[in-house]
Amino acid sequence: MIPGPTYVYACPDCQLRVSNRSIMSGNTFGATQFSDLRIDAPMMPSYPRISKCERCDCTFWLDDETKVEGTVGIPFTALYDDDFTPNETKNPVFGDQLEINSALELDQESIKDALFMNVQRDEEDEKHLRYLLLWAYHKQLLDGTILRENLNEDLDYRENIDALLNLIEEDEGSTIFCAELNRFVGRFDRCFELLEPFVEEFMGPIVGEIHDRCLAGNRDVFEIEIG
Ligand SMILES: [Zn+2]
Repeated sequence: MIPGPTYVYACPDCQLRVSNRSIMSGNTFGATQFSDLRIDAPMMPSYPRISKCERCDCTFWLDDETKVEGTVGIPFTALYDDDFTPNETKNPVFGDQLEINSALELDQESIKDALFMNVQRDEEDEKHLRYLLLWAYHKQLLDGTILRENLNEDLDYRENIDALLNLIEEDEGSTIFCAELNRFVGRFDRCFELLEPFVEEFMGPIVGEIHDRCLAGNRDVFEIEIG
């Protein structure tokens, strides 16, 4: 993995500055992909796109609008520059602060709050938040902090999946994933209906797995083999 620059962002409400790393390139070596599209890739870490200010609780996107000019740390190109000497004076991107903490990732409740407060500016933002929320629920299943039978009764979980379905069902190539989302909420008939064209033509391993789990009335996320 080649790390990219560490950028600095300012909370739009109280101006508290936070840093967020970036990567220049990474790979999926040793990665695990799940059927809810989450990828756990040690060689390609993902950094938050949205954060919550630890001082004033404001939720804000880490993008060009909140970015402060300049970066933290030694520039990547300095590695190839024998004459490079670090600047001894305080980095101007720190503003009045002596130090800067990393931007916080939103936790499950903060993602729900963000959606409730409509911080999404367009459909892409909303999709991003809804995927984060889906994965947050499923991570709870993985680490055992919630049981599947309790999640099945959770109206927020179902509502999030329905909203996600609304956002993506028109997207090209999304049919199999829509089938999977329907399986997560136990709508097995709808899942079969969406899978049908793929089952007849060619039953790849992913379609096969969704199909078998659907037959068994199983709603769990599964790991996908990636080459
Ligand atoms: Zn703030």
